[in-house]
Amino acid sequence: MTTTNYLLRNARLADGSIVDIAIEDGLTRRIGNDLADQFAGEAFETVDVNKNLVLPGLVDLHTHLREPGFEGSETILSGSKSAVKGGYTAVSAMANTWPVADSAGVVEQVARLARDAGLCDVFPIGAVTVGLKGEALAELSAMANSAAKVRIFSDDGNCVSDPVLMRRALEYVKSFGGVIAQHAQEPRLTHGSQMNEGAISSKLGLKGWPAIAEESIIARDILMAHYLQSRLHICHLTTRGGVELVRWAKSQGMAVTAEVTPHHLILTDESASGFDPIYKVNPPLRTSEDVQALQDGLADGTIDIVATDHAPHPNDSKDCEWSAASFGMIGLETSLSVVVKTMVASGKMDWETLVERMSAAPARIGGYSSHGKILEGAPAHIIIVDTTGEWKVDRELMASKSRNTPFQDYVLPAVVTDTFYNGVRVLKDGELTGAKYE
Ligand SMILES: [Zn+2]
Repeated sequence: MTTTNYLLRNARLADGSIVDIAIEDGLTRRIGNDLADQFAGEAFETVDVNKNLVLPGLVDLHTHLREPGFEGSETILSGSKSAVKGGYTAVSAMANTWPVADSAGVVEQVARLARDAGLCDVFPIGAVTVGLKGEALAELSAMANSAAKVRIFSDDGNCVSDPVLMRRALEYVKSFGGVIAQHAQEPRLTHGSQMNEGAISSKLGLKGWPAIAEESIIARDILMAHYLQSRLHICHLTTRGGVELVRWAKSQGMAVTAEVTPHHLILTDESASGFDPIYKVNPPLRTSEDVQALQDGLADGTIDIVATDHAPHPNDSKDCEWSAASFGMIGLETSLSVVVKTMVASGKMDWETLVERMSAAPARIGGYSSHGKILEGAPAHIIIVDTTGEWKVDRELMASKSRNTPFQDYVLPAVVTDTFYNGVRVLKDGELTGAKYE
């Protein structure tokens, strides 16, 4: 194998310091001042970063890649391309594929397809219950012991609503250091629900989805995980009450982590007023008061991470009336920019905190030890971000196979120009290179 070695000159780190970074044989070899004498010459290609920001590659714990089964919406290859364009070097693939990723065979298939794509790490998430049906526990230890080494389990899309099954799952994963990622949605309170329950759902005549459907499961599960001394991760928080529950749990020393999506940090249920199903998503967009609480919770660390919930759907499942449309939005390519717009440009969060929420913390929660940091001797998963630049979102230019972004025509800050995965420059000046790690 021959890979190109790089010398990144004038790289600005999240803490503001300016350094040079030498990347050799896929690893971050040296970080220091004026490395040009040591690492210049034929063996290293010099990239003048020109004081743009250099960050560890982003890590997404909540991605729907649709393969196997729904390759018309996304494949592991197209999803990997989308991830790389968005600055992600690791994503976690949710289990709601067909067949469902509820066995060693399917999670190993996902891991194999990801290796073949070779653009970023794709870590399969295993289903908690067989077929996501909520009836019987899936083969959690078989998936954990498989070549895919699954550590995160989730029925995402569905809630593990049966408390007995949830208890058994939390007990089971303790033996191998796993975590249950819960999609908190009491199904009996949301049957047929279409959007957030409130003034706007009443006005539009759409069946409401009450905050309590989410909060009641969060409350139950943080208590249960603490009782069992097991690890719980709460997917996509959307309500002020949910943030307060997690804040309380952490104040009690409970080992719970939580995520928020970029879209829930910026959009509200007022978006539904035009009945455009592009804004139909599970869990639903909430009120501006909720958005405020989510932003505050992300800033103060109550919410540990940003996760995209990238959910590709074909056009015909969105170009229809609201009630018939699918739930979900794509997000890998807009995630960083939306977080910069809502959190960094607004002064709520600095870049070091953004790195913690979008790279370091998700890498820790997932156990993805080679990610989340730029460290001498570690694999070079590194991105370059032009923080002074802006870009206009154009869904036709996205690498995802699907077009269901709610941010079409938004002008957003922060442009990901380069992504290095295992030291390979898979994105160069905003273009996918076709480079592949063998
Ligand atoms: Zn979900």
